[in-house]
Amino acid sequence: MKTNIILMGPPGAGKGTQAKLIIQEFNLPHISTGDMFREAMKNATPLGLKAKSYIDQGHLVPDDVTIGIVEERLAQDDCKGGFLLDGFPRTIPQAEALDKMMAKMHRKIDLVIDVETPKEELIRRISGRRVCKSCGAPYHVDTMKPKVDGVCDICGGPLMQRKDDNVEALEVRLNHYEHETKPLLDYYKEAGNLVTLDGSKGKDLLFVEVKELIRGER
Ligand code: AMP
Repeated sequence: MKTNIILMGPPGAGKGTQAKLIIQEFNLPHISTGDMFREAMKNATPLGLKAKSYIDQGHLVPDDVTIGIVEERLAQDDCKGGFLLDGFPRTIPQAEALDKMMAKMHRKIDLVIDVETPKEELIRRISGRRVCKSCGAPYHVDTMKPKVDGVCDICGGPLMQRKDDNVEALEVRLNHYEHETKPLLDYYKEAGNLVTLDGSKGKDLLFVEVKELIRGER
């Protein structure tokens, strides 16, 4: 089984949804830098205050800040048996820093799953996306409705729209993805552990492929 995994793809590709399925099935810690920043913003910590102005406008949080929080998180005990990185790395300096962290721990990334989805579909998904304010579980107003309107199926928390899920911030986020994150695909292709999947397939079909990849069956 692959245990040191990165999930990549543009905003709205379905990374968060696949991440929730992966951690349930394989019992890996979910390391989402976006979730970590949102938690820090909710608690108004110094990290949260620093990150807020970037995130609300769709910009990337500076590399030194982002790398620091991931390094701290990967050093925790629950990551010893593996981890699922979701939304990190997003730039070449972040990928290089991650390689150094891995080398220090005598480990290596063994699978990079890139979920690609056409832009029109990303816009449709992001504009209808709702998330649970308490646990961050993702929903969609048309395609992934909760059982009770406005209430999270998992924890009963209220559903809300992310502040950066609007058309202006999405354009900025897609632009960052295109220019800063996409070059990582070549970086990991060269490393030999990149697999690109079609995110427009729907979450269940996609998860069948994801499971096979993690189990090393394909
Ligand atoms: P996400 O939940 O992954 O869509 O992330 C939400 C926002 O958090 C992004 O639009 C960025 O502003 C910030 N963020 C998350 N991960 C990173 C990262 N690896 N590098 C820089 N900024 C990040």
